[in-house]
Amino acid sequence: MAAPTYHDTKDLIACTECDALYHVVDPNPGELGVCARCHHVMIRPRRFAGMRIIMMAVTMLILMVGAIYFPFLRVEVQGLAHSASIMDAVFAFADVRLSVLSVLTAAFILLIPALRMGLLLYVLVPIVFDRPALAGARRAFRWSEVLKPWSMAEIFAIGCAVALVKVGDLARVEMGPAFWMFIGLVIVVVVQETFICSWSIWKSLDSQSA
Ligand SMILES: [Zn+2]
Repeated sequence: MAAPTYHDTKDLIACTECDALYHVVDPNPGELGVCARCHHVMIRPRRFAGMRIIMMAVTMLILMVGAIYFPFLRVEVQGLAHSASIMDAVFAFADVRLSVLSVLTAAFILLIPALRMGLLLYVLVPIVFDRPALAGARRAFRWSEVLKPWSMAEIFAIGCAVALVKVGDLARVEMGPAFWMFIGLVIVVVVQETFICSWSIWKSLDSQSA
């Protein structure tokens, strides 16, 4: 049997959950491409998704700057008050050996999400405005997909919620502006993910390089 050529394989799509292979039939906007074996949604094209993803990425970057700059929490115990920003939390580990934790925390909750938004903007802005893709757009999108599991802003928010329940019994806790910005940021992250259809973005990049 002859080895498959590029033309045999270019309309194939693999389910990222169970590796089942399918021939792609272009879905209409609003239709879903669902894996018949594990029901994972592989294709989710939506009208104006590119522009919405761009607007949400810009919103996230603005919220992220605000969340870093403003106070996150104010804790008051027996008349003594202390307010802390996210950066105070990140650099709370004074011990040099624990400074690795500071770097990792900053990377997972701030740097990687911001880098991912930057990469998405780099890839999507030219596509949405009908311009040729920028140099290295394919590599940029591949990196944004690789970084996706390491972008953990929402995990930090869940961790904060658990910590607040515990601290709430011991001290008076007031949420600062950065706290609400961070909650807004997490909501935008979750909504944005429902608009990102990797297959549609790869298809746009392929049609430009064809
Ligand atoms: Zn599957």
